[in-house]
Amino acid sequence: MPIRKLSQDVINKIAAGEVVQRPANAIKELIENSIDAGAKTIKVKTKKGGLEMFQIEDDGCGIPMEDLPLAGVRFATSKLQEYTDLKDIGSFGFRGEALASISHVGHLTITSKPVAQEVAYKIQFDGGKPNGEAIPSAGRNGTVIHVKDLFHNMGMRQKSYNANEEQFKEKIAEVIRAYSIHYENLNFSLFRIDKSQTQVRSWNLPDRKTIIQHTYSKEVSSNILTTKLSDEEIGVKGEIFFTSSGYSGKKFILLIFVNNRLIESKQIKQIMETVYEEYLPKGARPWVYLNLSMPGKNIDVNVHPTKMEVQFLHDERIYEMIKKKMDMFLIPTKEDRTMTVVP
Ligand code: ADP
Ligand code: MG
Repeated sequence: MPIRKLSQDVINKIAAGEVVQRPANAIKELIENSIDAGAKTIKVKTKKGGLEMFQIEDDGCGIPMEDLPLAGVRFATSKLQEYTDLKDIGSFGFRGEALASISHVGHLTITSKPVAQEVAYKIQFDGGKPNGEAIPSAGRNGTVIHVKDLFHNMGMRQKSYNANEEQFKEKIAEVIRAYSIHYENLNFSLFRIDKSQTQVRSWNLPDRKTIIQHTYSKEVSSNILTTKLSDEEIGVKGEIFFTSSGYSGKKFILLIFVNNRLIESKQIKQIMETVYEEYLPKGARPWVYLNLSMPGKNIDVNVHPTKMEVQFLHDERIYEMIKKKMDMFLIPTKEDRTMTVVP
């Protein structure tokens, strides 16, 4: 075949498929938008694991009616102007891609009302374009993002999703639990409409440990160790909440936030596994929440469209610090245990 340029529609769909790998990714993007908008309360609702419908409602700053037609357009953002701004970006968003991507793989409706606007306005998007004008609608201060029929035009993905439905539902809950714990002063909830069940709720809880208890379990929270991390020379600060050897979970839960971004890291996971190998019996898994912050110039958040991967400077040195700290705390627990075994 001769070389031909892909049509814009194909380009958009490919890009969208990368940003919205599954409902959990989309929901993560929308939660981040709500946090960027200064929301205090973020309510997520899903039907059929988000495939049939998901909705995020927040009480943030809202989108003025005149901006609504641009909200779902690719590379349209209120957060970034110059590429050089990226190094000290204070917001989650910067690519202007999430809403547009979602509208390429699902039916997107945005309803929004800034406080200063008398009524809410609603607009629909399909394929990165507004589907008609913004019209007045009932709505409270803040924004409601409603997505229907995700992957309706991506048969393969829909099928694979159906086959792994439970796993993907758990992913959504996992994202919301992670944000509940990290943003201890915000209220999050996840309601599964088809089950009439509130799966996660972190409203008005006093501290992180209590949130861990409510979003995970009392078993986790009562076995939590916690310590601060700090390396002034490289400007790294943080904290870590991790279960002692008294806890043994079925699945390794690892929540990592770097500069407030929820990320995944194979390297960090491996380090934790090595640390715990010494302290946990075979088959027992720990629970870990790691929160790191470092100068924006030391971290590249633009590694992947889902923003789930980041690269940062001094990574080996930081990992070493984490490992040492955990070892310090985990040793006494181990000795305690041995001591109680001795009659
Ligand atoms: P980005 O977050 O990278 O800017 P998005 O596609 O996620 O791109 O959002 C596009 C724009 O829509 C944002 O820049 C913001 O102005 C607006 N927006 C999206 N979600 C919200 C929200 N929940 N509250 C207020 N504004 C929002
Ligand atoms: Mg965004």
